[in-house]
Amino acid sequence: MLRFGGYAAVRRFFPSRNVAILRYHAICGPEGFSYADPSICVSPAAFEQHVRYLASHYSVLSLPEVVQRLHDRRPLPSNCVALTFDDGYEDNLAAAKTLSRHGLSATFYITAGCMAGGAPFWPAEVRALLRAVPGPRLELSTPWSNIQIPLAAEADRRAAVRTVSKLFKAHPIPVRERLREQLRAAAGHAPVSSPMLEWDQIREMAHLGMTIGAHTLTHPNLPNAGLEDSEAEIAGSKRRLEDALGTPVTMFSYPNGGAERHYTPELQRLVRQAGYAAATTSRNGFARPESDPYALERLQVHERLEDLVFALEVERFVLAPGR
Ligand SMILES: [Zn+2]
Repeated sequence: MLRFGGYAAVRRFFPSRNVAILRYHAICGPEGFSYADPSICVSPAAFEQHVRYLASHYSVLSLPEVVQRLHDRRPLPSNCVALTFDDGYEDNLAAAKTLSRHGLSATFYITAGCMAGGAPFWPAEVRALLRAVPGPRLELSTPWSNIQIPLAAEADRRAAVRTVSKLFKAHPIPVRERLREQLRAAAGHAPVSSPMLEWDQIREMAHLGMTIGAHTLTHPNLPNAGLEDSEAEIAGSKRRLEDALGTPVTMFSYPNGGAERHYTPELQRLVRQAGYAAATTSRNGFARPESDPYALERLQVHERLEDLVFALEVERFVLAPGR
């Protein structure tokens, strides 16, 4: 608590003039590790703590409001935070209700081709299928190489999720789909349940005052997908969401990222041409008045509230010089 008091003093005497756009994914306990990597899961109890703390200590704005102010060159309130969620997991509905109870709103980026009735969301499908593939190894082939992936031990299976995910991101969409078919066959076409939101749930979130944004149709790593397929993913997800919701969709989030290149100037141009007002990246940092609206920085959020406040009050001096 002493440390939290120190953070409050930092906020008061050195208020941030930038905006921390928080990047959440799944809001779930260990049961969610079956569909999402533990590193992108925050438990519902921790999330509730985050929301309470943010609501009472920060100026939480919706992302469209932040984007509009940056566009109009109007100042942001001190210590400004906006919340975003990538992918569109079903557990996000409860998170939206928590936010609504505390009078907050967030932007939920939906992988529009992978909701109910759509294609399986591949990052979750890969995790499920790799549990079903019999050992001791999995063999996958691309037009360029044969890949042997060991599956003998539990640690091998965890490493295999990373290896196969990397392969899916590294190739154009038609090659990814052939790899997916090979993986399904190796898993004996084991049934995979969808952890994603249904359209009625997305509409319910919109009614709670949440912003619905787009996160492509099928979650490719766009720089490896080619410009034609990227254009279809970027513009197609906007259309699909607008048809389902009946309202304009103006926020976009580039899938994947982390250490990898997940957006380029050509992709930023495609996002702008499709009619989006802004796009967020996975580049770690604070968005500033001079940030490119089609490449806004975000902060990845983890479980502990203390880590979140440390990022907001200590790392900001490193990540965003000039506060
Ligand atoms: Zn994503």
